[in-house]
Amino acid sequence: MIQLKRNKTHYFYIEYKNDQCRHNVMVPVSALLKEYGEEITSDEVFRRARCKKCGFQGNNQMHLVYVGESTLAQIGSAVNTDGQKDLEVYC
Ligand SMILES: [Zn+2]
Repeated sequence: MIQLKRNKTHYFYIEYKNDQCRHNVMVPVSALLKEYGEEITSDEVFRRARCKKCGFQGNNQMHLVYVGESTLAQIGSAVNTDGQKDLEVYC
């Protein structure tokens, strides 16, 4: 379990394990903290994450990654400009 407030410059890379959709998203940790509070942990994000395209939830792969600007450019296909909107988190 990771306290996300210690990793504000990091991103979550979430890969939904649904073969029909194969959607994945990059979500900045700072956006999660802003929306869900400073105390949210990696476990909570993982549990709540659901694919907004197909509604798939569970058995997802999730990585906490640090990405600089150049890295983001290289993996552009996994990122969209409003990436955090592709992550649906609910209570
Ligand atoms: Zn999906």
